[in-house]
Parts: sequence; structure tokens; C-alpha cells
Amino acid sequence: MTQNPGKPVSPADLRALDIYDFAKSGRQAAGALRVSQMPRMLAEVAADAPDRDTVFTWQGEGSTQPELQNDGTDAPQPYLRLAVHGSLWLMCQRCLQPYSQHLDVDATYRIVATEEEADEFPLDDDEVEVIVGSRQFDLVDLIEEELLLSLPLVPKHNACPEVHESLLPGDAGGEPDESGAQEADDKPNPFAVLGKLKQGGPDGEKH
Ligand SMILES: [Zn+2]
Repeated sequence: MTQNPGKPVSPADLRALDIYDFAKSGRQAAGALRVSQMPRMLAEVAADAPDRDTVFTWQGEGSTQPELQNDGTDAPQPYLRLAVHGSLWLMCQRCLQPYSQHLDVDATYRIVATEEEADEFPLDDDEVEVIVGSRQFDLVDLIEEELLLSLPLVPKHNACPEVHESLLPGDAGGEPDESGAQEADDKPNPFAVLGKLKQGGPDGEKH
């Protein structure tokens, strides 16, 4: 995407953007959104995150592309390209520590007029998504939606710095002087462990 300072888009404009005009005039816009402006994203942030209100930068670019109509003529149709980059703190499901997750969104949308048109739109191109346009389009909502979709299914470190105590099997401390007989008694029943896993394990704590 090319850089273009363009005219700045105010937060009010972002919530009520004439997306048809944005596309038709080939406008470009860019800005930053804080996680606190996106409640559904904020709900994903780890409770003990060092920074709960990180920033995502976004860029939008409108365009039109000629498409063959039912009457056999070509007509320009509205498109939007959206890129979003940034990081937020999620809770690692392996070690239960917060970690910074980077998210990248780069999506192209064909803008249609109605839900019916969106449902019927032939998607022969996997690279293009379909959205219903509006003269008062909520771009913040679209950005938040795309970020939510780009969240990892199971948030976790690439490599955990340490294993959380609660995930270690049994009592990690132990008593080195215990007799052999007692150690055998302390062995966890494998079926009890299975039952514990079935109850959800670390995922069970998810809201
Ligand atoms: Zn971890």
C-alpha cells in the first residue's frame, strides 16, 4: 500500500464513513486505534498484562474495479483494502503468563449494497471478502472484527519462559528421604489424572 498523508480521518468520521465515496474517489486514510477503543478486543487482554491499552495502526484504501453487469456493460464497483498491524497482551494457555501477540491484517473487500447481495456474491477469489457498505460505515467495527478473527485459537508463547507451578504434575517439591513404599502410595491414579484433564485443564479458566 502506498503512503499518502491525505486528509486526516477524525474518530467521528471513522464510525460513520461514506464508504462508497471513499472507494469511488480512491481515498486513502491511516490512523491508530487503542485497544481500549475496541471493547471486544480489550476483553481478550490478559488480566495482569503490563500494558492493557496497546495501539494498532491501520491503513485503508478505496478503489473501484470494472465488473461485467447483467446487462452486458462494465461498471466500476467499489472496493476497500484494509491493513492493520499491532500487538496486544494475551494470556499464554501453556504457562498462564501474559505475552505480547503481534497481529497483522491485510484484507480486500468488495463492497455490496445489501445482505442479500453479499450472500449471493460469487466468491471465485479467495483473496476478496464481501462486506455490506453504508454511507455511515463503521470502520472501527470492521477493524475490530478483523483483529478478533486474526487472534490465535490457542494463545501461547512460541517458547514459554518457565512452566507455571500449577501445570506441573503432582507436588514438584517432594520429600527425597521418603521410603520406597510411600512413594508408590503417592503415585497418582492415572484415571484421576484423566478426569482432571477432561474437566478442562488450563482452558477451563477461560472466561
Ligand atoms: Zn507461555
